[in-house]
Amino acid sequence: MLRDRSSPPASRHDHQGKVLFVGAGPGDPGLLTVRALECLRRADVVVYDTLVPPDVLDMAAPTAERLAVPRDGREGDGDPGEATGRLLSRLAAAGRTVVRLKGGDPAVFGRLSEEMGPVWEAGIPVEIIPGVTAAAAAAAAAGIPLTSRAAASSLTILTGHEAADKREGIDFRQLAALPGTLAIYMGVEQVERWSSGLLSAGKPADTPVTIVSHCSWPDQRIAVSTLARCTTDFEQHNWPSPAVVIVGEVAQPIDGASLLADRGPLAGRRVLNTRPPGQGDDLDALVRAAGGSSLRVPAIRIGAPESWQPLDEAIRQADTFDWIVFASANGVRGFVDRLREAGLDGRALGTARLAAIGPATREALEHAGFACDLTPALFRSEGITAALVQSPRPSRFLLVRANRGRDVMRREFEAAGHVVREVTAYSSDPVDSLDAAIVAAIDQIPIDWITITSSLIAESAIRLFGPRIRQWRVASLSPITSATLRQHGIEPTVEATAAVTGSLVAAMADWEIAHAPPSS
Ligand code: SAH
Repeated sequence: MLRDRSSPPASRHDHQGKVLFVGAGPGDPGLLTVRALECLRRADVVVYDTLVPPDVLDMAAPTAERLAVPRDGREGDGDPGEATGRLLSRLAAAGRTVVRLKGGDPAVFGRLSEEMGPVWEAGIPVEIIPGVTAAAAAAAAAGIPLTSRAAASSLTILTGHEAADKREGIDFRQLAALPGTLAIYMGVEQVERWSSGLLSAGKPADTPVTIVSHCSWPDQRIAVSTLARCTTDFEQHNWPSPAVVIVGEVAQPIDGASLLADRGPLAGRRVLNTRPPGQGDDLDALVRAAGGSSLRVPAIRIGAPESWQPLDEAIRQADTFDWIVFASANGVRGFVDRLREAGLDGRALGTARLAAIGPATREALEHAGFACDLTPALFRSEGITAALVQSPRPSRFLLVRANRGRDVMRREFEAAGHVVREVTAYSSDPVDSLDAAIVAAIDQIPIDWITITSSLIAESAIRLFGPRIRQWRVASLSPITSATLRQHGIEPTVEATAAVTGSLVAAMADWEIAHAPPSS
């Protein structure tokens, strides 16, 4: 088949384009496979379903282009799956790595053959990365097996939607006769139809039925019923889609399902993380480890300083300073990048000693291969000045910092008779506005907490999120950040006891434990 002539030939690029069909799992980013994560990180374009939650999408490289396709495919001519397939092959023909991210597993109700067809035809290589399908995730969440030696020797995955279609209607007699479990996808709207179909085909009325809605999402809900009762039970509660229904002997939680490991103090809580991309990853991981989920909506962005010249000059003279003080991990990254770019390494620092304002900054230094001589007990500017202001005077200090921030260090060192040079290693600026998809996500999915990790983030977040913040619990990283919040009339719900991410997550967890309803 001829290639689209408007696309540049693949040989102009250092890699040939390809399409990776990647399973995103049921929604919790923790249920992505390692391979899925690798694919997302190297994608040039991510084409995703509306079923994929924003925090999974957030795992893609920040530079990756993101294209949403409605679950029913693109508008226009012919089969929607094939239309998406044509879109995929056009994108890959330009030499790009295209990730087609699909909820659950791409091979289960994922229009995989329709989407793959045009890609194959165009001669573009394809790879399929499996994902955790909804039935498996739902069974895990409910604490039940899908098969069992005693009670279920088969598993049938079916769509409850198709059951509504008279022509292709499912043969309920065959299903009712199977000695195993039924996992019904897209079935919650049609509960009356398939449950009565199964009942009239002779499936026992007391067959257990478990429904899991929004499986692995912060608002996951699980209920257990029977075939005879499920229509009334489910309709009463208006179970939101997506939901998966498991029918069969296995669908009865065994005694002790209440022993399912506690999912942690932040279970079911969604945390809005306002740090810029590439940072605060440890925050997301800690939130997940505590059972919560996080949504990254950066309130600031990190960029190059207005000019590199002052930093470059300071780096050339680095060995003339007694102390080089780093006010943030970003400062370390900016400094080290420019040092390397100039063809230099640690030897350029001579006998200068290095100070980091807190543990994350220290870690960034160590990660870059530099030992850190000092991290103060108090993780803020005052901690550094308290530790170093008594140095033999005049000592020469190089302060590596952002384009904005507090002046405490320079003022205090100068007042004590030291010589200070300040250089900007990066710029940190408020994000101007939120894109519409993010606003929609925030308004759709309940947010429980917002994390505020600096004064600049506080100001920017208040401007970006407006009155919404008042409905969320606010976790502040430090007393200075809390003071900025209060200036704007916002009282933080909790404040980290030490200005580090672990302490911030611990503060949220403690609050949740203290406010948990008494268990029955
Ligand atoms: N490829 C997907 C299925 C897509 S069809 C997979 O393997 O899971 C869409 C149906 O999947 C939904 O109607 C619902 O029945 C099920 N589903 C997908 N994600 C789900 C979730 N997080 N919780 C419950 N059901 C889900």
